[in-house]
Amino acid sequence: TELRNQIAAGEVVERPASVVKELVENALDANATEISVVIEDGGQSLISVQDNGIGIPKDELELAVTRHATSKLQTSADLSNISSYGFRGEALPSIASVSRFRIVSKTQEDSLAGELCVNFGDIGENAPASLRQGTLIEVRDLFFNIPARLKFLKNPATELKRVTDLFVRLALGADGVSFSLVSGSRTVQEFFRFEDKKERLAKIWSGSVIENLIPVDYSAYGMRVFGYISNPKSLQSRPDRVLLYVNGRSVNDKLMLKAIRQAYAGKIISRDYPQCLLFLELDPKEVDVNVHPAKSEVRFRDERALFALMAKAVESALAKCPY
Ligand code: ADP
Ligand code: MG
Repeated sequence: TELRNQIAAGEVVERPASVVKELVENALDANATEISVVIEDGGQSLISVQDNGIGIPKDELELAVTRHATSKLQTSADLSNISSYGFRGEALPSIASVSRFRIVSKTQEDSLAGELCVNFGDIGENAPASLRQGTLIEVRDLFFNIPARLKFLKNPATELKRVTDLFVRLALGADGVSFSLVSGSRTVQEFFRFEDKKERLAKIWSGSVIENLIPVDYSAYGMRVFGYISNPKSLQSRPDRVLLYVNGRSVNDKLMLKAIRQAYAGKIISRDYPQCLLFLELDPKEVDVNVHPAKSEVRFRDERALFALMAKAVESALAKCPY
């Protein structure tokens, strides 16, 4: 199983940003309202994520770091109806197989927290510890047991940039949750609990783009698209500023992007990318999120309806806005 964990780690855990993604998604699945991430050396020496979520019962810590143990899917029918971020039970065992891993967690019911260390896959003793309610996970020396993967990592600044981009995507998708990202002793990004999406966007996009944002809210074919798009006259063309979500999950979807760009055709130079933050909501049965282990790709059952909806949502928002 050790080898299998390492192989799975190759799929789920590519770099520090993917570790942060899995850990923060777990925190969100645990209904946390405060999530703090600390990174050192671009995540190579330390990635730590602490949340105030429901925690893991002390006697279930071993299970949580064991392959295919998920508390989130009860039946295979659930697989076509996924509302949590996680469902494979692969992330923790994968990460723990390629790092010095430590988890400390406390539920409301338990009076003491439990702590478990996993050393490159070797599970240690479950020991009592102290922590407020929630979970703390520390990942040190990522990939030190797999030189080939270690070599594949970029310099700390580049890895931190990827972590930051990912962190921002997660924070923009999770209203009502405070997030902080600290690198070394520097606070890189911070979102407060009651900031709305626009206030969060204002922290990452420039003022002129924010002032001219166009709201989108459009429903058709049983789906809804809402969020903000940039005014064609004030956008900074950057493909990394197309932020798309499907049922709350950040995705990179070419089809959605194509529909958005088509709606902007003629209004901006064709090689430009509009900036946008758009959330698509649809019946979970209409979309397959089980395409890729990192779950950033999705497949729609009715691609034509999806394309038409996205294009129409953006077109009609642009049409209402004089410029
Ligand atoms: P998955 O998220 O696919 O269920 P993971 O390997 O990411 O699998 O996590 C395994 C299990 O550990 C989860 O199903 C959950 O029960 C528990 N868990 C992990 N992280 C947390 C957390 N931050 N708070 C509470 N429970 C957690
Ligand atoms: Mg998970």
